[in-house]
Amino acid sequence: MKVEFDRDTCIGMFQCVSEWEAFEKDEEAGKAILVDSEEREADVFVREVPDCAEMDAKFAGRTCPVDAITIYDDDGDQLVP
Ligand code: SF4
Repeated sequence: MKVEFDRDTCIGMFQCVSEWEAFEKDEEAGKAILVDSEEREADVFVREVPDCAEMDAKFAGRTCPVDAITIYDDDGDQLVP
């Protein structure tokens, strides 16, 4: 499973931070940070989701009010949102 985080879309409500520890607060920027991610293109960050964190990652994606978090399965199919 993979997660993609669109930092440009993020409005810093930080619900995701409560759902999955891979998201941290950047209070100064008013944006979340996806820890241990790679910037695939400008302001779009991706990383693998460990098996043990799949539920948390999905909750984080579902809770984001602006759909800045997208979850894909290993076949590349979109699971969330
Ligand atoms: S829940 Fe969405 S808008 Fe809020 S900080 Fe996380 S990614 Fe950004």
